[in-house]
Amino acid sequence: MQLKTILNRIQKFKSFVYGSIRWVEEAKEPTIEVELHPRANSRPICSECGCKGPGYDRLPIRRFEFIPTWGIKVFFLYAPRRVDCPTCGIRVERMPWSEGKHRLTETYAWFLAGWARRLSWKEVAEAFRTTWDHVFCSVEMAVTWGRVQRDLTGIAAIGIDEIQWQRGHKYLTLVYQIDAGCRRLLWIGKERRVKTLLRFFRWFGKERTKELDYICSDMWKPYLRVIAKKAGQAIHVLDRFHIMSNVSKAIDKVRAQEAKELKEKGYDPVLTKSRWLLLKRPENLTDKQETKLADLLRYNLKSIRSYLLKEEFQLFWSYKSPYWAGQFLDKWCAKTMRSKIEPMKDIARSLRKHRPLLLNWFRAKKQFSSGIVEGFNNKAKLTTRKAYGFRTYHAAEIALYHALGALPVPKVTHEFF
Ligand SMILES: [Zn+2]
Repeated sequence: MQLKTILNRIQKFKSFVYGSIRWVEEAKEPTIEVELHPRANSRPICSECGCKGPGYDRLPIRRFEFIPTWGIKVFFLYAPRRVDCPTCGIRVERMPWSEGKHRLTETYAWFLAGWARRLSWKEVAEAFRTTWDHVFCSVEMAVTWGRVQRDLTGIAAIGIDEIQWQRGHKYLTLVYQIDAGCRRLLWIGKERRVKTLLRFFRWFGKERTKELDYICSDMWKPYLRVIAKKAGQAIHVLDRFHIMSNVSKAIDKVRAQEAKELKEKGYDPVLTKSRWLLLKRPENLTDKQETKLADLLRYNLKSIRSYLLKEEFQLFWSYKSPYWAGQFLDKWCAKTMRSKIEPMKDIARSLRKHRPLLLNWFRAKKQFSSGIVEGFNNKAKLTTRKAYGFRTYHAAEIALYHALGALPVPKVTHEFF
């Protein structure tokens, strides 16, 4: 069997044929070059308008990298024709294996992008002996294509979240579709301001916004304002994951402050190594940690009382009726307001203020469990952390869409695994 026969099975082009194939002796790595020629009497297609036109001249031979095989690099060699297009003037012809000025064939770019979903970009570059830039361009191509092709109909529930990225207080706003049948990242915006979310709604469009039944978010003020203004018809659910992480932050604040005070007064530094004990759920503690927690609980410290308040608050989520959940919430807030622990009082104040939105979680029949947004949040953090190469916002954006966007890919006749 000839190589040409194999190529025709896996990658056949309608108006082009494979010519001679040669082993490149002088190359550093094992390399083969495959010539491509236009089919006899075929006329070139204008790359700008897609119309056939008379040939004008031919450009020098260009190399397009194809998927390597048996540890051998494979290049297509082709001298592009120029078309004398009646509409556009003289243009380079359209080549079905490559778009624009790319040095990779589209098939190879899709191949690399596919692997970049499973491995880091650096690992992909190493595995296929190519460069980080080639992997990046491939993923960028896949994301651009997928975002144009994706179906945005029937979106009824969205979740709005933010992640910190780079160092300092830089945020990205992420909007997910969280419908039972389809969960994916829809949109990314810089910062987490009113402006940011307004940009989302502008992109999403009035028609689609009207179709939204549920929106989940945290209590971040700019989000609340924009959602009320833009999608007043949707049930706005305050997300359990975000609320509990706020409570944890408050406890952490109490603990840090108290540890500092105790140290200043010369007491035993009982709280310095206890951070995780107070933040973990009791069922997740090891035996040793459990003993330490029991020790801690003997002190009547603010940290401990905050911890107990948090544990008590977990009960809130087990209610079924919004009415009884509301009763519980009121009691818990009243109790917390008497605790004299400022960070916890802040939590109670904010929960009171957002009471109706909190109870919407029960009205939405708890169908948007904290797991959905939390899962996305973890994956998004992992993606941005893994990619320390992302110095630019654009690269981070591309990586997030690629990892979380569930973007469509074109149907191909041959899978290159
Ligand atoms: Zn044209």
